[in-house]
Parts: sequence; structure tokens; C-alpha cells
Amino acid sequence: MHATLPLLARTDFPPIRRKRLETLQVNLGYVCNQTCVHCHVNAGPTRTEAMTRETADEVLEYLAASGATTIDMTGGAPELNANFRHLVRVARARGVNVIDRCNLTVLFEPGQKDLARFLADHEVAIVASLPCYTEELVDRQRGKGVYEKSLEALRLLNSLGYGREGSALTIDLVYNPQGPSLPPPQAKLEPDYKRVLGEHGIVFNRLLTIANMPIQRFGSTLVSKGTFGGYMDLLRGAHRDDNLDSVMCRSLVSIDWRGYLYDCDFNQMLGLPLRVAGRPRVHVRDAVSRGLDGNPIAVADHCFGCTAGQGSGCGGALA
Ligand code: SF4
Ligand code: SF4
Repeated sequence: MHATLPLLARTDFPPIRRKRLETLQVNLGYVCNQTCVHCHVNAGPTRTEAMTRETADEVLEYLAASGATTIDMTGGAPELNANFRHLVRVARARGVNVIDRCNLTVLFEPGQKDLARFLADHEVAIVASLPCYTEELVDRQRGKGVYEKSLEALRLLNSLGYGREGSALTIDLVYNPQGPSLPPPQAKLEPDYKRVLGEHGIVFNRLLTIANMPIQRFGSTLVSKGTFGGYMDLLRGAHRDDNLDSVMCRSLVSIDWRGYLYDCDFNQMLGLPLRVAGRPRVHVRDAVSRGLDGNPIAVADHCFGCTAGQGSGCGGALA
């Protein structure tokens, strides 16, 4: 795979600083039952990196100390980590919002038969990738048979109350473009998704559109095809200063499976750590006693992926 950080590090992206911390985004490791083409963490079934119980408990300590109101769990497939349910139980018992970035097909993995019920019982908000509403495109990006399995998972979650009107159980779907282009307007695409999935008897809350980042597997593919520079020109050309105030790194901190802190998940994947007072990197156990408000954010050229057009982040379009 081509390294992309050397192509991104020299940047004219505007300097930005942290605001009040609201969300801990915790990457439980790179083990996944899928190997999607656009995966920015390069996850898959053969990866072995996984958060230990000790680190999970340090994350919970930091969660309490930081005052963050949401824990957002990602991976890989976070549910495959042995400490996933421990984190959910403790966070929910403290009244913290829990988000599970779920790939849907994991609900049918061995040992996960009761996962959907567990998520519903703990009122975990689900954010699930479904990069298109057609079988051909989903299977091309995420693997053969993924579309049908994803629909089956959505029906199962709907049957438990997810996405239903008046229900506290929410499920948002995530769209990302197939190639090196910006996502279409979120508000325009959502009705199409609702109509087509509705024909399959499926309901969901919101569609979140997210731009592809020029890093990891997707970035490497761009380099191989000679389109990396063109994609960066597209992102930079569409940059909007008014998105700078709401990029997710302002209020979120990303924690890797070993417990190290980053300004966002993309920086984590690039190996670009959060820096406090000149320290090259910070572990979650050392962060318990220090605030991050006002800390400078480590930016590079990939940040234009967050500020291009309608803007992009874990919660979809920023505009
Ligand atoms: S499901 Fe998510 S984590 Fe797993 S390979 Fe696909 S994009 Fe990566
Ligand atoms: S990639 Fe986006 S979220 Fe991450 S540091 Fe850059 S602007 Fe912030």
C-alpha cells in the first residue's frame, strides 16, 4: 500500500484549535468481518490489533474525568472486541450516549446472535455504512453478498424498534461516494434512500453523507491510478472557511486500540498524534488530569476532505 502522509504533510490548511470536548471516539481495533475497498483503517479478518480490558477501563476513567457526553465506538467491527459490551454497559449506566459504528453484517457473525437485542436493550445509537441503495454498488465496494445481508440486518433492527417513529432507538445510514468525487447534497439523497429502502420494508432515521479521505486504502488506490493529485485539487478547490468551525476535531478526541489520543480518526490512521505542550503523543491515562480546550489541532492536506463543499465528518455533512 502507498503511504499517503508524505503527500499530505506539507499543508496550507488553516490552523484550528480545540473547543470543549463532547465525544470520545474509541477505536477498539482493526479486526473486521469485511474488507471494504474504501476502508480508511484497512481493517479485515486477519488483523489482530484489539483493545485490552485494561485500556478499556482507562478509557472509561477518562470518559468520567473529561465530562464527555458521548462515546462513539468504531473499529474494525467494534462489536467483535471482547470489551465492547463492557464499555457499553458502564457508559450507559452513567447516562452517557453510546454510538456503535456498525457494519450491519456483524450481526450475523458467529457468537453475535444476541447482539441486536443487546444494542436495543442498552439504547445504543447505531450508525451503519450503506454506501448506496443498489446491490451492485454496495457489493462492489463492500464485498459480495453484503447488500442482502445488510438489508436483513436492517429489517432485524427495525423489528426491535430501530428507526421507527417515536422510538428512542435510532439508526442512521452512511453514504460515501464510489470514486474520487464529493458526496451529493445530503438533504437531496436522503429521500431517495428512504424511498428505495422503504420498498424493501426498511426504515431509518437520517442519511449521513461522508467524503472519502485521501488516506489508507482509498488514498493508496488514488496513488496507483495516478488520480491522487486530481482528487486533492478537487477537495482544496471546494474548501469553505465556514466549515472550519464545525469540523469534528473541535469537539471530539479519537483514541486508538492502545489508548493513544488523536484529534480525529483520520489522523489516527495517518499516525498523526494529538500533541499537548510539545509532547509527541499522549496516552489516555495521562489525559485524565489535563484539559484539551484550546489545544492546537494537528492538520494536514487531508483536512480539506472535511471542509470541502457541504463539509464532512462522522455526523455527515457539516452545513
Ligand atoms: S466494515 Fe468498516 S471497518 Fe470493516 S472493512 Fe468495511 S469500512 Fe473497514
Ligand atoms: S481530518 Fe478533519 S477532523 Fe481530522 S484534524 Fe483534519 S479537519 Fe479535523
